[in-house]
Amino acid sequence: MLVVTERLGRPRWGTANFVQTKLVYPIDADTPTARCHLLPAPQQPALCGFPWEVLVEVPGANDLDDIPLDLQCTDCAEARSNPSETVT
Ligand SMILES: [Zn+2]
Repeated sequence: MLVVTERLGRPRWGTANFVQTKLVYPIDADTPTARCHLLPAPQQPALCGFPWEVLVEVPGANDLDDIPLDLQCTDCAEARSNPSETVT
């Protein structure tokens, strides 16, 4: 299972806070800021049906549990815990 994130996802913080945050904390490029999905295998759609072409692998993440809860795709999380109901 691969943990991937949306390539075109927007940062979680607003524009005004973005500048201030950037001054205080350098942005960690390895920290995902968009919704994260699960791929059953490379070049396969995510469990929720999201196309893999617009997803990029999250470095260092081995499972959806490595992703903050608010960034986890709920459909992928459900599909993982209910394999019999996996979207085809
Ligand atoms: Zn998903």
